[in-house]
Amino acid sequence: MMDFLQKHQSFLMGNYAPPAIEIVRGKGSHLWDSQGKQYLDFTSGIAVTNLGHSHPKWVKQVQKQTEVLAHCSNLYSIPEQVRLAERLASKIGSGKVLFCNSGAEANEALIKLSRLHGQCGQGKRTKILVAKNGFHGRTLGALSATESSKYRSGFEPLLSGFVFCELNQLSDFENAIDEETVAVLVESIQGEGGLHVASDSFLLGIEKLCKQHNLLFLMDEVQAGIARTGEFLGYQKSGAQPDAIAMAKGLGGGFPIGAIWVSEAYASLFVPGSHGTTFGGSPLACSAAHAVLDIIEEENLISRACELGGQLLEGVQRLAEKFPQKILEVRGRGLMLGLQLAAEPAELVSILRNNGLLAVGAAGQTLRLLPPLTISKEEIEKGLAILDESLIQFELN
Ligand code: PLP
Repeated sequence: MMDFLQKHQSFLMGNYAPPAIEIVRGKGSHLWDSQGKQYLDFTSGIAVTNLGHSHPKWVKQVQKQTEVLAHCSNLYSIPEQVRLAERLASKIGSGKVLFCNSGAEANEALIKLSRLHGQCGQGKRTKILVAKNGFHGRTLGALSATESSKYRSGFEPLLSGFVFCELNQLSDFENAIDEETVAVLVESIQGEGGLHVASDSFLLGIEKLCKQHNLLFLMDEVQAGIARTGEFLGYQKSGAQPDAIAMAKGLGGGFPIGAIWVSEAYASLFVPGSHGTTFGGSPLACSAAHAVLDIIEEENLISRACELGGQLLEGVQRLAEKFPQKILEVRGRGLMLGLQLAAEPAELVSILRNNGLLAVGAAGQTLRLLPPLTISKEEIEKGLAILDESLIQFELN
């Protein structure tokens, strides 16, 4: 057993698979383990470190803010928070923002928003339509919105009222609507679920259905959001207009922060006392997010995600042609790509890691590639070369 693993397992609860390596440092597109081995990071901490590791400007801004004020609670107005809400609204649309600490918490806030919407008018509507294969987090509400038994098993009873419909099958969603339905919640690209992309026409159709039936159209942009797919938020490509959106992961560039944006029409559903958090939207978290937004703008990371995503897609498509028995399909957009494999991805993830590339699995035998948006063309080529070499070693049983 590796030296670190025994200690790891002695002190940490066993809710994650035993880790193969111990990571101690990161810079740009690379991570280093405690043995000094360097890895090209195509995970970005699962779509979090979109600026790469320790971006100098982000580091400086976070350091500076800790010297001024790290935390003061939501008892007071926080200028960095107000300014961040204003910046997010300018990228999304007229509306208001509520801050929290994670993706699951952002989705919990969306679920609570839908509860309040369901109490407007006659009766009480609580049903939420969600997509099969979706993932919305591990807290009990967000877990209830997540279909896979892999995550749910052992935690029932969960919240009732979530109806699972086929992604991109508008009629499946339409047929599921009844007098108790209050909202629809979907991801623009399913990350954990295997890189299934919601089509533009599907999202536009959901918007229309929501308007017709007075439902809230809720988008979970926790993984696909924050410039990764070649738009600030993944749904924006479709032109659809959600009523509320969950964000987290890449928003803080490695510092925990989550947020929901809610359109003006529904922003007043939350009133004093409806919801709250001790840490959400702290000066430090918001400063980290400001640095992320600054760098996205200054380094044109949205168009970079498009351009470099194109390069990565071309490369993996070439590999799919070279290894047709091993790669069955390539899905995704921008720098959020998935390779559907002919076997579970764990073995390939391990070969890649030995060869110096970090990638992550997803459902449906999918290998997920989530490089930082600051990655260079040369680093993408290097990653593709490691993938090529590793696919040769990857044997199907
Ligand atoms: N929503 C989506 C789409 C996610 O991919 C995730 C995490 O992977 C979450 C929600 C949960 O976010 P967190 O792990 O920050 O609670």
